[in-house]
Amino acid sequence: MTSESESAGGRAVVRLLPGRARRLRAGHPWVYANEVAMTPAARALPPGGLVRLEDAGGEPLGTAAFNPHTLIAARLLAADPEAVVDAAFLAERIARAAAWRDRLFARPFYRLVHAEADGLPGLVIDRYGDVLACQTNTAGMERLLPDLLDALARSLAPRAVVLCNDSPVRALEGLEPYRRVALGDVAEPVALEENGARFLADLLGGQKTGWFYDQRDNRAFVARLAAGARVLDLYSYAGGFAVQAALAGAAEVTAVDSAVPALDLAARAAALNGVAERCRFVRAQAFGEMERLARAGGRFDVVVADPPAFVKAKKAAASGLKGYRKMTRLAAALVAPGGFLLVASCSHHVTAERFAEEAARGLHQAGRGGRIIRQAGAAPDHPVHPMLPESAYLKALVLQLD
Ligand code: SAH
Repeated sequence: MTSESESAGGRAVVRLLPGRARRLRAGHPWVYANEVAMTPAARALPPGGLVRLEDAGGEPLGTAAFNPHTLIAARLLAADPEAVVDAAFLAERIARAAAWRDRLFARPFYRLVHAEADGLPGLVIDRYGDVLACQTNTAGMERLLPDLLDALARSLAPRAVVLCNDSPVRALEGLEPYRRVALGDVAEPVALEENGARFLADLLGGQKTGWFYDQRDNRAFVARLAAGARVLDLYSYAGGFAVQAALAGAAEVTAVDSAVPALDLAARAAALNGVAERCRFVRAQAFGEMERLARAGGRFDVVVADPPAFVKAKKAAASGLKGYRKMTRLAAALVAPGGFLLVASCSHHVTAERFAEEAARGLHQAGRGGRIIRQAGAAPDHPVHPMLPESAYLKALVLQLD
């Protein structure tokens, strides 16, 4: 029996309020809670369960994962309202995501799945050869975990799958934080390659999914500037910019981070690539260290400042923006005349325009002139859903200074 709350196929039905289906019909993948007819039946649905989405008149809109307790209440999975979302469904989307990336990257080290943009809302997977680091950031994806592990086993036969499920965004979906090995065995740290350099990532003890593949192309760009240069890599994490610059012939590289485990991985990566004798690893707060270096008259030909997100919530935007300005001011003061500066922001709530504006102010406050020679986002393995341009979170500017 078809009813208002259950389809013929036995799937829960969720209807939108009148006039609220237009965005979805135009290709947007989300429905907000205030656009849903929140009947007692809808409110009682299990967070993350699959629903048949309909407009107010009962016309089908597709299959979605539905969480009545969060702002983004429905995330579209398929246009077919009775789509079977199982291991085979997930395996097919993962295979598609892998196929186009394998054209771009010769080796299996990349972001394999980037959520909505890969048709898998709430899911992030980073690939380290035959080890996979996953985040299931929504109740919908968390519910699909058994099928997901099955799908990964089928499509990629990984040696191990690690769930790096401690992102703060999980709290919005009512999910607890945890990290664990969900499949197979993993000897930490795991190895990866990027732009011809070798690195190490700690999936159980590191940050996020272990490695920031999003900066791949920006690291390659900085490496092109690095021959013979004195390089300062602030917020170095596991040494991505630092070691690639050293490998490209930098005269000396100073990597600064506040986290000892990150610096240990960076130092081991330097040794793996045979550049340890040209690299120094300094545990320090970046701002304090920049001020100290400036007082000591330190100058570098290339300075990289790729910090953690300074703006973590929209309401904290003002202080975070000031942070980017100050960071640029302090970093610019350390760039030798004619040298280069990369500044980056991974804050979702800061647009490219606002970031560029703060960077320009910081540069001016430092009394420096120059020009932007590169404006870039994340590498292509971090695609953007065409209807979610705001999800392009990474902004990087490279400037050449007078
Ligand atoms: N640039 C890195 C990624 C940076 S992630 C890369 O290319 O992979 C942000 C890093 O900043 C983390 O390693 C974190 O430990 C470090 N960090 C956070 N706060 C810091 C601070 N106040 N001073 C220095 N490092 C900091």
